[in-house]
Amino acid sequence: MNSKRYSRQRELIYETLIHTTEHPTAEMVYHWLKPENPSLSLGTVYRNLKLLADDGRIARMAFPVERYDANITPHPHFRCDRCGAVYDIDLPYEKDIDRAAEEASGHQIRVHEVLCRGVCVKCRKEETRSS
Ligand SMILES: [Zn+2]
Ligand SMILES: [Zn+2]
Repeated sequence: MNSKRYSRQRELIYETLIHTTEHPTAEMVYHWLKPENPSLSLGTVYRNLKLLADDGRIARMAFPVERYDANITPHPHFRCDRCGAVYDIDLPYEKDIDRAAEEASGHQIRVHEVLCRGVCVKCRKEETRSS
């Protein structure tokens, strides 16, 4: 395995992200880079995006897969970085954020979603038990 080649691809992927505001998926990055880099594989893109995110050089959007919720009233969510569990957070909806976002962007805001991330109650308990 040639690690130099892999780090070069990682920098290429990083450069691509710097020059876009599209918040691309791994597939999008792959399709952008593939024509100029025939040896690039989708797996390499996934792996390098993950490494960049783990290093804190890029941000990972919080919902990696589509989630479904029967509660259609907008409400904040919490997602555990350890186990991936998603919980509701019982807080009132902040209409002020919609208004402020509309003023700041000119977009018509219908709803905003709040996602908190961290370590869930269950994982925290397991942590204290094992330490
Ligand atoms: Zn957890
Ligand atoms: Zn929910």
